[in-house]
Amino acid sequence: MNIPYKIYLEENELPKDWYNVRADMKNKPAPLLNPGTLQPMTAEELAGVFCDDLIKQELDDTTAFIPIPEEILKFYRMYRPSPLVRAYCLEEKLQTPAKIYYKFEGNNTSGSHKLNSAIAQAYYAKKQGLKGVTTETGAGQWGTALSMACAYFGLDCRVYMVKVSYEQKPFRREVMRTYGATVTPSPSDTTEVGRKILAEHPGTTGSLGCAISEAVEAETKLDGYRYVLGSVLNQVLLHQTVIGLETKAALDKYNIKPDMIIGCAGGGSNLGGLVSPFIGEMLRGENQYQIIAVEPASCPSFTRGKFAYDFCDTGKVCPLAKMYTLGSNFIPSANHAGGLRYHGMSPILSQLYHDGLMEARSVEQTAVFEAATQFARVEGILPAPESSHAIRVAIDEALKCKETGEEKTIVFGLTGTGYFDMVAYQKFNDGVMSDYIPTDEELEQSFAGLPKVDL
Ligand SMILES: *Cc1c(COP(=O)(O)O)cnc(C)c1O
Repeated sequence: MNIPYKIYLEENELPKDWYNVRADMKNKPAPLLNPGTLQPMTAEELAGVFCDDLIKQELDDTTAFIPIPEEILKFYRMYRPSPLVRAYCLEEKLQTPAKIYYKFEGNNTSGSHKLNSAIAQAYYAKKQGLKGVTTETGAGQWGTALSMACAYFGLDCRVYMVKVSYEQKPFRREVMRTYGATVTPSPSDTTEVGRKILAEHPGTTGSLGCAISEAVEAETKLDGYRYVLGSVLNQVLLHQTVIGLETKAALDKYNIKPDMIIGCAGGGSNLGGLVSPFIGEMLRGENQYQIIAVEPASCPSFTRGKFAYDFCDTGKVCPLAKMYTLGSNFIPSANHAGGLRYHGMSPILSQLYHDGLMEARSVEQTAVFEAATQFARVEGILPAPESSHAIRVAIDEALKCKETGEEKTIVFGLTGTGYFDMVAYQKFNDGVMSDYIPTDEELEQSFAGLPKVDL
C-alpha cells in the first residue's frame, strides 16, 4: 500500500477519550507530598491550588479511558487532527532505508502541543465558575497556549514569564497580551517569594522554578483563581495522550507498526502523550517498542538525575514529586539555548523509565541545531529547538539503519515551530553556540539540596 505524505484522520476517527496509562501500570507513580507534612497530598489539600476536576484526574490511577468533554472536542476539531507526516524528503536526503514519520503539533498559533492541555485546563476552570488562572511560562509556548484557551472560555490569565525569555522574546509576550493575558517578568517584586529570590540573587534572570513559586503564591492571594501547569503533572500527560491516540489510529489505518518512538523530554508531557498508548500495549504484554526520551546534555534529568522526591519549584511552595531530578536548585548554564530546562521530569515517565519501559539519551545543543537545520531544509518546517532534540536522535537512528541496512520504522514527535527562537538560531548560524555539560561536582552540589524523605 502506498503511504501518503500526510496521514489524516476523519472527524469520526478522532479520539473521544484520553488514555490514562497509570491504569495499566503495575508500579504506579508515587503520590505528590505535602511540602509541610511530607504526607501524600489529599484532594482537599490540592483543592486550594488546582481545579476540582483536574485534581480527580491527577489522582486517578485506575480509570483507563477518561471521556473528553464535548466543549473540548469542539475546540480540538479546529486544529486537530495534527498531521502524521512521512518524512520521505528527509529519508531521501539521508539515503536511509529507515521509514521516518513525525507527528507535527506546531500547526496552531501557540506553535506547540501545549494547547492540547491548555484548553482542557481552561475548560475545567470555567466549569468550576472560576474567574481566572495563574501560571508560569519559560520559553513562552505554554503561556501562549493558555492565553488562547482562556480567551476562548472568557477567563482571566496571569502569566509569570521567566525574565530572560521576557526580555529575549518580546513578541511571545505580545501574542499573550493580544489574547488578553497579563504577563509579569519573573522573579518580580509582586510576590513575597519573588522579592526573596531577588534579594538573595540580585540581577538573576529567573528560572522556571522561580516563576512557578510566584504563580502559585499569586493564585493563593486571589479570590476565584487557581494555578495551572503546562507539563510534569499526571493530568497534563493525560490530556496530551490525544497526540499518541491519533498517531496510533493513523498508523493502524495503514497497518504500520513502529519499531521506535522518539520524543524530546522537558517535563515529559509531549513524550508521555505520544507514547502512552504504545506503552499501554507493552504493559499489557501485547506489543514491544523501543521508546527513547531525548534531553539536553546541559539539563540531563533522566540520564544523570536521581529518582527521588524533590521540590517542583525553587520557592518550595508546591507539593513534592518523586521523579528523576537534578535538584530544584539546578539551573542550566547561561549558554543553554535549546529549551527543555526544567530540573525534574513527569512522575509517570520517571516510573516507566525506572521500570525499564523506556530509555533516554542526552544530546548537545550544537548537534541539535545541526539536525534542526538539516530538517528545516528538506521538510519545510522550521522546528522548535525542543523538538529538534527528537529530530537529532531520529536522524542518528536513521543513519544507523543506513549502516546496517535495517528498514526500521521510526516515529518521532515534532512538538512545535521555532519562529520565536531565532536568537538561538542566530547564535548557531553565527557559529557562536557552545555546548556545556555540567560536571559531576556541579550535579552533586545540586543533589545536596534534595529533601530528606523516608516513606
Ligand atoms: C514545552 C515544550 C516542550 C517540552 O515540554 P514537555 O512537557 O516535555 O513536552 C517540547 N517542545 C515544545 C515545542 C514545547 O513548547
